[in-house]
Amino acid sequence: MLTLHGAGIGKGITIGTAFVLRGPTLDIPDYMVPDDEIETEVNRFQNAIQAARAQLIDIRDHIPGNAPSESVMFIDAHLLMMEDPLIASEPLQTIRNEHANAESALQRHAETLVRAFEEMEDPYLRDKKTDINQVVNRIQQNLLNVHEENIDSIGEGLEGRIVITTDLAPADTVLLKHHRMSAFVTDLGGPISHTAILARSLKIPAIVGLHGATRYIRHGETLIVDGKRGTVILSPDDDVLNAYHDHYGKILHRQQELETLRTSEAVTRDGHLIQLMANIELPDDIEATQKAHADGVGLYRTEYLFMNREEPPTEAEQFSAYKRVVTALKRPITIRTLDLGADKQVDGGRPNLDTTTNPALGLRAVRLCLNEPGLFKPQLRAILRASAFGPIEMMIPMVSSLDELGQVLDLVEEVKQDLRRQGHAFDEDIPIGGMIEVPAAAIAADLFASRLNFLSIGTNDLIQYTLAIDRVDDSVNYLYDPLHPSVLRLIKMTIDAGNRAGVPVAMCGEMAGESKYTRLLLGLGLRNFSMEPDSLLEIKKIIRETDIHSLSEAVGEILACSEPNELRGLVDKLGYT
Ligand code: PEP
Ligand code: MG
Repeated sequence: MLTLHGAGIGKGITIGTAFVLRGPTLDIPDYMVPDDEIETEVNRFQNAIQAARAQLIDIRDHIPGNAPSESVMFIDAHLLMMEDPLIASEPLQTIRNEHANAESALQRHAETLVRAFEEMEDPYLRDKKTDINQVVNRIQQNLLNVHEENIDSIGEGLEGRIVITTDLAPADTVLLKHHRMSAFVTDLGGPISHTAILARSLKIPAIVGLHGATRYIRHGETLIVDGKRGTVILSPDDDVLNAYHDHYGKILHRQQELETLRTSEAVTRDGHLIQLMANIELPDDIEATQKAHADGVGLYRTEYLFMNREEPPTEAEQFSAYKRVVTALKRPITIRTLDLGADKQVDGGRPNLDTTTNPALGLRAVRLCLNEPGLFKPQLRAILRASAFGPIEMMIPMVSSLDELGQVLDLVEEVKQDLRRQGHAFDEDIPIGGMIEVPAAAIAADLFASRLNFLSIGTNDLIQYTLAIDRVDDSVNYLYDPLHPSVLRLIKMTIDAGNRAGVPVAMCGEMAGESKYTRLLLGLGLRNFSMEPDSLLEIKKIIRETDIHSLSEAVGEILACSEPNELRGLVDKLGYT
């Protein structure tokens, strides 16, 4: 029995047998093409590109209707990559000028492109090299006339199996889901690659970046894939298998139990009504939000509308996306203005890449927006116009200075004036709130509260900035601690400041959706939690079984505790760890 570790995607556990899907090993030939065969070689290259393109279009046309909308975008991104000069035209010059054979000409230019991506600091862009390799691989297979094990021809053989492969393209992930694979494990890939994003939204447990997976795992071997822990257990013995079966059974049983709470109120034993909101990324997430009976959307991360495309969405496009969410849900929607920068980049590069060495401390979120009013204003207009169709609140990410906040509020006023002049309807009293995710904003939360209608604590960044830990850097991840006394004090300061000013305080960072912290947060005074829709019922159950009144002594002890292990023990003692 061996346990391998990689980057886990999703929360699920799958027990099943391995289906090792091997791509062909491609030996790239390298030879000189005689003068009189150059044009034939050029044609061979162009035909291979055309064939690869036709295959991708065919896959795109067969994406099942219920697949997430990103699936099409990912294939379109691969089609676009095929048009990159280093792939589509430079190899032609190399064939003609250097008499290189097509495969070798393509390989040389592809390596230049991959190197350029590898050297990028941004993990999101670095991950793009995987997509380039997938595109080039497809063209090489057509040149060499070798074909991968065809997923479609394996068909039903994949049902319920755990696919083990070197790497998985987004298009293949969709096909495999269609054939009902239950999980997948790849040697390569990062947790924020397109494939990982797709796996999350398709709810397929997966482990990526598990180097050696195809070497160590045998076809037909029994595996336990634990997406939450990022582990694969190979040939588990009966004790482990039984323990996981029990664990799995308990998870299912618990889910069934939770189902009964869908329509119940999130009210504590001592009568406090708690708001439970959903975090969403795309308009398509409305369904999960409705299913969870969330009180509304506490965080709509609009930046995902801007990704994987050449041009930012127009005002009209944004307006229709925001309107669609608010009219479908008929509940309050908190639309967060663009939070691009740091690890969240649109395709096509990063602003100030040459000068920014600490992107998380650089031109990100509201700073970027104020720096680029051409990007910001259409979004403000679209949010305001959508507010005529339902209860919308506007939330500003990463506020850190009152001057900056003043500029945002002035800009919103200016946009409102324009809309009035142009006869557009909007909610004149649209609430404007700020995310408290920079320590400066938490420490001076009273000052920010005096100028805003609500605050929302973003613990993901608040922890990153308070503890100086890059949230996407694996090597310092072990220091990422929501229970650090400094973090707890900042959360408490923010909630207290909001209460004193009569301004509601929510939390929309991951901490709000983690059951082990629910009672602590209730004891700290939090009354509005926003989280991914799948966590909502579990948090509701805890709320309904809690008496806030009885928490105050224990929470006081936690805040006064100076010993980390003891502090964790005290939080565990609150229950629901
Ligand atoms: C946060 O920082 O906690 C947050 C909710 O925003 P994001 O994760 O999008 O940075
Ligand atoms: Mg944040």
